[in-house]
Amino acid sequence: MRILVAEDDKTSRLIIEAAVTSLGHECIVATSGEEAWRLFETIDVEVIISDRMMPGMDGLELCRRVRASNKDTYTYFIFLTILDERPDVVSGMEAGADDYLVKPLDAVELKLRMLVASRVTALHRRLFRQSEELAQLNRQLFDQSRTDSLTRLGNRLKLSEDLDTIGAQADRYDRSYCAIMCDVDYFKAYNDDEGHPAGDKVLQLVARALVSASRVGDQIYRYGGEEFLILLPEQDLTAGVAAADRFRQAVEVMAIPHDGNPRNGVVTISAGVAPFQGAEPKSIQAWLNEADAALYRAKQKGRNCVAHEPQSPLPGPSLVPSLEKVESGSD
Ligand code: GH3
Ligand code: MG
Ligand code: MG
Ligand code: MG
Repeated sequence: MRILVAEDDKTSRLIIEAAVTSLGHECIVATSGEEAWRLFETIDVEVIISDRMMPGMDGLELCRRVRASNKDTYTYFIFLTILDERPDVVSGMEAGADDYLVKPLDAVELKLRMLVASRVTALHRRLFRQSEELAQLNRQLFDQSRTDSLTRLGNRLKLSEDLDTIGAQADRYDRSYCAIMCDVDYFKAYNDDEGHPAGDKVLQLVARALVSASRVGDQIYRYGGEEFLILLPEQDLTAGVAAADRFRQAVEVMAIPHDGNPRNGVVTISAGVAPFQGAEPKSIQAWLNEADAALYRAKQKGRNCVAHEPQSPLPGPSLVPSLEKVESGSD
């Protein structure tokens, strides 16, 4: 073990150092409480053997500081005391010490204390490792329970938590969001023609295409069977519609053959866009319902297109690409 000795008396210090080293341990010496504290802060030690009475920072204060420090490793703390001071040992143990040794130092006593110290610090190390592993497992479990296993996108639990956060922040900060509800076109026919496993593969490819077309800050969730929800922070309706069309194109350009799609024979999605302005009195549910209603209209318009809610014409239509795929507001 690495042992830090704090002792202001030179003779006593040399005796302890020799005894500690002869037991096969590494010994670091400090001539004051302050020096011991500085050393403790910079290096990891398993054990501190400290004199109680030292000018400046005494052993009690050193012990308190060691216990209050939030190091990952446990330091076994032993007080050195003279026989007359034994009643004072209680206050030392109350300050967080684990044991005490009486001066003049007895080699056997020291050896016994070191055996216990080694056992206790090893136990603490194991406990620390296990709690680290547990924390890591908990983090994995937390992520897993919020991830859709097929597409690796956020699932409904993740969505409802994120929506809670959006709802809570909406009142305080005037943040704006856009929701894009996407749905794979004629997907039942795809399953019927190609089988469910092939359908699963398509859902994975669509998810990947949406992720590729997304930008930093966009959140994509698997909303239901073949439905995906994308939340865009700080985007107004015009920007949201442009983004939705980018997502729509990203799926179309994969050109996954889909004989059951009478329009163009490849897998496509339809999308409904609805904005949410933090300060407005609309509920989160009403917002999603609007995106859903817009999606329904995109389906009615013939699929593989984007519709939005409200339906009023978008300001600055020049910002929106491939307008033939985006409703003009007149449908
Ligand atoms: P529309 O263009 O109107 O959206 O038609 P659709 O056929 O896509 O819509 P419908 O709601 O009739 O069918 C959705 C299909 O999605 C039916 C269901 O079997 C399929 N589906 C839902 N979840 C999964 C899944 O996890 N894997 C597979 N392979 N199919 C799924
Ligand atoms: Mg002293
Ligand atoms: Mg659907
Ligand atoms: Mg569908």
